[in-house]
Amino acid sequence: MNLIVFGAPGAGKGTQSAYLIETYRIPAIATGDMLRAQRRAGTALGDQVKGYMDRGELVPDSLMVDITKDRLQQSDARDGFILDGFPRTVAQAEALDAMLDQLRRRIDAVIYLRVSRQVLIDRLSHRYSCRTCDAVYNFRPDQARALPRCTVDGGELYQRPDDHPEIVARRIDVFLKHTAPLIDYYTAQHKLENIDGQMSVAEVRADITRRLAGIRKGAGSR
Ligand code: AMP
Ligand code: ZN
Repeated sequence: MNLIVFGAPGAGKGTQSAYLIETYRIPAIATGDMLRAQRRAGTALGDQVKGYMDRGELVPDSLMVDITKDRLQQSDARDGFILDGFPRTVAQAEALDAMLDQLRRRIDAVIYLRVSRQVLIDRLSHRYSCRTCDAVYNFRPDQARALPRCTVDGGELYQRPDDHPEIVARRIDVFLKHTAPLIDYYTAQHKLENIDGQMSVAEVRADITRRLAGIRKGAGSR
């Protein structure tokens, strides 16, 4: 399965990708995590993308396409992948189709997690991330007064600077302007699975599983 998980910041892409990794035994390629890892490592690329990220803007397409192309060609992505956070513009989607053509592969399905603006803002304002591994947690303000450590690696939890309210508003606007047009792009390719992302985590997971099972069955006839 070659999948895209797509939706606004806070829609649940990372949470649902984590389940898909287990179900299909394919890696999740989260471009935001990759960029944050570059920043932590202090690379030139990390320096280059810092400003865009902290302002809640998109990193230029050419950079993102190069990074993703390299990643898709690594051996662990040979039998499938889950793209989380890429593509984010129509230009990136076109570049992705072109690179997959070259590799004689294609996207099987695009999972769109639909969530209202108010719910996104509410979720992100309670979101805390691990400084070392990017794992995500949710805490109410009273719980957040004494934050625990990351259960994966004991790392320190913090609120991502771009999860602060002013930047969140900008990121949602950027999503609506630049990324939402992908809904039409993938609908035209008959690949979009439009899912209510406001259900519980378990319900969203079940809905995704059901739809992907249908796609696998129908694969021969497509
Ligand atoms: P995320 O963790 O997916 O919310 O991404 C965090 C930030 O990384 C975004 O707000 C962008 O600045 C940048 N970024 C991640 N993926 C992309 C992409 N495909 N295109 C442009 N910018 C990206
Ligand atoms: Zn961690």
